[in-house]
Amino acid sequence: MTARGRDADAGRRRAAVAVAALVVLLGALSVASMLDDGAAGGAFPDRPDDAASTPLGVPAARAGDADQYRLIATQPDDDEPVTYDPCAPIHLVVDPRTIVEGGMRLLDQALDEVSEASGLQFVVDGTTDETAPDDETVRSPDGGWLPVTVTWSDPAASPKLKGSVAGFAGSSSVERDGRRWFVTGTVVLDGPQLARILDGRRGRASVRSVIMHELGHLVGLDHVDAPGQLMQPEGDQTLTRWGAGDLAGLAAVGSGACIPY
Ligand SMILES: [Zn+2]
Repeated sequence: MTARGRDADAGRRRAAVAVAALVVLLGALSVASMLDDGAAGGAFPDRPDDAASTPLGVPAARAGDADQYRLIATQPDDDEPVTYDPCAPIHLVVDPRTIVEGGMRLLDQALDEVSEASGLQFVVDGTTDETAPDDETVRSPDGGWLPVTVTWSDPAASPKLKGSVAGFAGSSSVERDGRRWFVTGTVVLDGPQLARILDGRRGRASVRSVIMHELGHLVGLDHVDAPGQLMQPEGDQTLTRWGAGDLAGLAAVGSGACIPY
């Protein structure tokens, strides 16, 4: 039996911070779509072919302290983070409609930065011209989990990108035996705005850091008001690398349990 509900809007947030020149406001969209695994089963797909019995990667050492990062979601019964399954790669597809020059490479580099810090592994399956499914859809028609969609969009197509918001991201979670996992998500980037940033000083590093920030949301990190962290709500083009708190948070969301299929 499949039961679906949403705690979606409880976790939906967007920072509303006045921005000065060179400051990019990075929106966060946190989506939680619940797919409960009932007694009759059926909600969960089979174990993915590329899943292993142990985590695929090892998180980097936790370098910061816990008040320098914040989690999007914690487990129902304790303070452990909701995470992706570290035993299987996270698949992504890219909708490149407004992609910036070199955007696939910048995405690859940002994914590498997340992998190095968290141990989570990513596989980019290619491009898509299909619109990202709604937040409640977590299963692919092919039978597995839906891949994460990275959409290069614009404010006309994605109104949340209006103003200085350069992107937003979030993941959907499912529950089995009282534990929750993120299984798919969306990253939406403002292609025209990022193209303008790309033309500026430190353009490539700045655009990459925006993507890193959104991927941080994807894997479970929320905004934090701590200096020097990429997960601050406001982007700053002098800050293009993970801070100690970001690294600690990424290690935490890379240290979750594997999904017991
Ligand atoms: Zn953000």
